[in-house]
Amino acid sequence: SSRSYAQPSASSPNEVFKGRKNANGNFRVTLIPGDGIGPEISVAVKDIYKAAKVPIDWEEVSVAPLIVDGKSTIPQDAIDNIKANTVALKGPLATPIGKGHVSLNLTLRRTFNLFANVRPCRSIVGYKTPYDDVNSVLIRENTEGEYSGIEHEVVDGVVQSIKLITMEASERVARYAFQYAELNGRPHVTAVHKAPIMKMSDGMFLTACRQVAKEFPKISYDEDLLDRVCLRIVQNPAPFADRVMVMPNLYGDILSDLGAGLIGGLGLTPSGNIGRDASIFEAVHGSAPDIAGKGFANPTALLLSSIMMLRHMGLFDHATKIEKAVMDTIAEGKHITRDLGGKASTSEYAQTVISRL
Ligand code: NAD
Repeated sequence: SSRSYAQPSASSPNEVFKGRKNANGNFRVTLIPGDGIGPEISVAVKDIYKAAKVPIDWEEVSVAPLIVDGKSTIPQDAIDNIKANTVALKGPLATPIGKGHVSLNLTLRRTFNLFANVRPCRSIVGYKTPYDDVNSVLIRENTEGEYSGIEHEVVDGVVQSIKLITMEASERVARYAFQYAELNGRPHVTAVHKAPIMKMSDGMFLTACRQVAKEFPKISYDEDLLDRVCLRIVQNPAPFADRVMVMPNLYGDILSDLGAGLIGGLGLTPSGNIGRDASIFEAVHGSAPDIAGKGFANPTALLLSSIMMLRHMGLFDHATKIEKAVMDTIAEGKHITRDLGGKASTSEYAQTVISRL
């Protein structure tokens, strides 16, 4: 439908702000081009949006890490800009490896309490992969789990990493998943877990999902084991096509890359990080340092993320128009980027999308 992958509307207690406008009626959106291929793929998005006359005024900010007390941080003006606009589109940010460097992506998720990470994964018509019927939506808890950052050495040679699960965050992401299912005409929600092993933590996550499920009598609810889902979805993705899968943080990270592999790779998968005070849309992939600056990165994942963002702000017609132009360009196959088996540069691909608007 023209509203496929719409974001749930504001409703307590998951009320989310959905963009602010300038006096000219255009939405103000923060754009963080990011590192590596980020600037190249951001230019493609901006060019296509200009040609499609999308009512957005971009406010471009850099988040080049500041080093404060030996640690990298996000500059305050970037935080303030996102806070004011409530919606941002973000390119990939490289995380320097080594002590003192916290992931800036994690910092943004924590700063704005971006509690739900929405990752749709849909086969692209005309682009040949082993399956042509992948159409899953995965919603990942985005603030805790193994990503809580609580690690310590107990004694020499023994470390502990704490997996943190709270009822509050579990209920919140579960409620978002059910709202999303309802709004997007998906009749099932599946909670993905390892509760037989993680009895208390995943057990609590499931308790939260079961409680929330009672609030949504029209949506059917079931539970499945992470390993079983991995096995079954690579054997046959069709049974997962009408459902929303909700899960703790790390499982979502892994399962969404598995999904990306099923549809043709990381160049194609979008995501949205949803919070009450801000939502940040970004490609699932990273900064691709191996191909940065060469001009042939695939901008599709960032473009599809921006299309999720348009639907979040209620710009459904613009979303549908650009999405169709993107899908038609890939299906035709003459001007696709190298990761998809073509020869087009990023800008040739963008110009082809523009010619199909
Ligand atoms: P990556 O996603 O950057 O790259 C993995 C592979 O996929 C590479 O071969 C790359 O060339 C290819 N690829 C990725 N996106 C592509 C695109 N749009 N078009 C064509 N090919 C593409 O993963 P990585 O190399 O593990 O990470 C690089 C850096 O990115 C690291 O510093 C990592 O921390 C960071 N990272 C950031 C984010 C984010 O900002 N959300 C996510 C993941 C990784």
